Amino acid sequence: MADTPTYGFDTLQIHAGAQPDPATGARQTPIYQTTAYVFRDAEHAAALFNLQEVGYIYSRLTNPTVAVLQERMAALEGGAGAVCCSSGHAAQLMALFPLMSPGKNVVASTRLYGGTMTQFSQTIKRFGWSAKFVDFEDLDAVKAAIDDDTRAVFGESIANPGGYVTDIPALAGIADAAGIPLIIDNTSATPYLCRPIDMGATLVVHSMTKYLTGNGTVMGGVVIDSGKFDWSASDKFPSLSQPEPAYHGLNFHETFGALAFTFHGIAIGLRDLGMTLNPQAAHYTLMGIETLSLRMQRHCENAQKVAEWLEADPRVDYVTYAGLPSSPYHDRAERLFPKGTGGLFTVALKGGYDACVKFVGALDLFSHVANLGDTRSLVIHSASTTHRQLTPEQQEAAGASANVVRISIGIEDAADLIADLDQALATATA
Ligand SMILES: *Cc1c(COP(=O)(O)O)cnc(C)c1O
Repeated sequence: MADTPTYGFDTLQIHAGAQPDPATGARQTPIYQTTAYVFRDAEHAAALFNLQEVGYIYSRLTNPTVAVLQERMAALEGGAGAVCCSSGHAAQLMALFPLMSPGKNVVASTRLYGGTMTQFSQTIKRFGWSAKFVDFEDLDAVKAAIDDDTRAVFGESIANPGGYVTDIPALAGIADAAGIPLIIDNTSATPYLCRPIDMGATLVVHSMTKYLTGNGTVMGGVVIDSGKFDWSASDKFPSLSQPEPAYHGLNFHETFGALAFTFHGIAIGLRDLGMTLNPQAAHYTLMGIETLSLRMQRHCENAQKVAEWLEADPRVDYVTYAGLPSSPYHDRAERLFPKGTGGLFTVALKGGYDACVKFVGALDLFSHVANLGDTRSLVIHSASTTHRQLTPEQQEAAGASANVVRISIGIEDAADLIADLDQALATATA
């Protein structure tokens, strides 16, 4: 597919990276359920281990089913290469790993997925890394937070749960001026609605667990590299631009150019951290991606209808959906996300915490789960679940206050969803 870059998104989501199986002609990508691959001879094995020849050694590093998914994701995001891994959270670590070392920091948005807040504010400290959280609406504060030890800027394209739309081009400009990469978590938008690399981002990460697979079957993550960042422009990224001791002194940038980050992710990240995606999960995700654009269109249409209905309801305090003219992000969303702003938003109930808990319990069609981006409509009370570890101030900043319920709109009939919300609101406010 590399020589046919003119295909549209709908074609790429079905074909990119795939071809009929050379051994059998199988039209669908086979699940290569194997751990290892037979070397032709000792020289072949040595060439593979030296990265002089690209091929398969061991499925912790590379697997043909996973490789198709990597190529497809790179194509859909407009990147040079991609590395799949076992979950969205694994992808975040895989993105930071080549950039960071003890004492270095990442400047991150205050509006992030709850689990990412915990990963960044607590867990990465064990590696000697740290995160500085900044309100990404305040671009001067973002600039001010970047110091000599900052190695990346990290935000979400559409931040879950509040539906905040990030000004990716503005942030890319700031990161660029500072000589550091902008990493965008594009999970909530998917490449159908937003291509961060086109807006200047260097790296894109996804939880493929969500819309990409689309039906709540498997966990997965991916890091896509634009291939455009000059890792050798400064001495900030020695793992990429200088001899890497973990790979017998190989200089990844010099050797692999635009694919330096991708090769590093496989040869060192997956090899040594081991957060590998299994081929079965890659298969489910490939199946999901084949219908991504169709699903995203319906997610957006349904979310718009449901958000409008909820906003007009007297039992509701407010709705944070960027597709609503009342949203402070509406204009930015129309500019950056002309195809829609996804299926995720929060609704605040006038009855506060108690009403939210009753509301979630009374819904029939909506499932109360810690997930999003499913064909099914899902709901969760973030303050008592995903954002429970955060202080009330952090909850508020993340858009997950106690009076707020997060809704992930599926692709069912919008009228059925509205009827279910109506009866649950009646119970919650009775
Ligand atoms: C779910 C999610 C993650 C974490 O992904 P997992 O696959 O659950 O590890 C990260 N970022 C966002 C925006 C998410 O929605």
